[in-house]
Amino acid sequence: MAQHTKSTFTLNTGAKIPAIGLGTWQSKPNEVREAVKVALQRGYRHIDTALAYGNEGEVGQGIRDSGVPREEMWITTKLDNPWHHRVEEGITSSLKSLGVEYVDLYLMHWPSSTDPNDRKKHLPDWNFVKTWQEMQKLPASGRVKNIGVSNFGIRNLEILLNDPSCKIVPAVNQIELHPNCPSPKLLDYCKTKGIHCTAYSCLGSTDSPLYKDETLLKIAEAKGKTPQQVLLMWGLQRGTSVIPKSVTASRIEKNFELDGWELTPEEFQKLSSLPDRFKVCGDAWLPIKVFFGDDE
Ligand code: NAP
Repeated sequence: MAQHTKSTFTLNTGAKIPAIGLGTWQSKPNEVREAVKVALQRGYRHIDTALAYGNEGEVGQGIRDSGVPREEMWITTKLDNPWHHRVEEGITSSLKSLGVEYVDLYLMHWPSSTDPNDRKKHLPDWNFVKTWQEMQKLPASGRVKNIGVSNFGIRNLEILLNDPSCKIVPAVNQIELHPNCPSPKLLDYCKTKGIHCTAYSCLGSTDSPLYKDETLLKIAEAKGKTPQQVLLMWGLQRGTSVIPKSVTASRIEKNFELDGWELTPEEFQKLSSLPDRFKVCGDAWLPIKVFFGDDE
């Protein structure tokens, strides 16, 4: 049986991303520092943050509080939409806030370049292909070990990968994935392109409707596991890394109890066939549409 808490997925760069990480979106000030410390001391070796979460400073404090050496952990952060034409400034800001010399993974948070002066507008004369051209310069600097994307569906990945300026295939696509948003076509597509997928909102996010799902509850009860552990195991068995968010020490602990057991093929199949669909993170708040319903 796999020891998931110590396992990694190998990216197309050869780097190894820890299978389980701590998410930090919506972690309130004064909560996330402790959460990051608790997680790292418990054994998590992967922390996911973003400039847009406004918490990189506190995440950095939690990292230092933990006493875990920097080189033993994986840090992911993300370029915010209104910073697409300022990639250099964006990474400099993130590194400064985090208080680290480098990040392991730098993601383009969304394939949407927002005008910083009017967030309802798309930036004139700019697009995510140009953003990627700038991001491709980063690994050579040593301040970013791997670059990737987030919230890219098949249509936008095709645009990016087919552009002659694309010299580096994204190492990772971080996307919403849970049994009510399984996106099997997108997962298959990424696999054929050598792009690893990280599952965000892997528990269904805040007030997850999944926690009331009868199929999930029955499987969890039969296995003597929590519904959250079952959801995380489902994500891991699909070959995705998972980044559950919690600011509650007991949950951070429970969510990491993923060694020495797994879902049977039947259980896995049942969870892969839930009829309901929902997306926590849609694109209605962006100036352009980024999801086209072609990923399921
Ligand atoms: P999530 O991890 O699916 O769910 C988090 C919610 O579940 C929180 O309300 C948390 O509560 C609760 N929870 C966690 N463990 C639990 C447990 N064992 N029992 C009961 N409740 C539990 O949601 P998410 O934050 O949307 O996604 C995870 C991470 O993915 C984010 O934090 C972020 O790092 C990343 N993300 C990335 C993007 C992107 O655009 N790239 C978008 C969304 C998320 P407490 O915290 O109160 O314990």
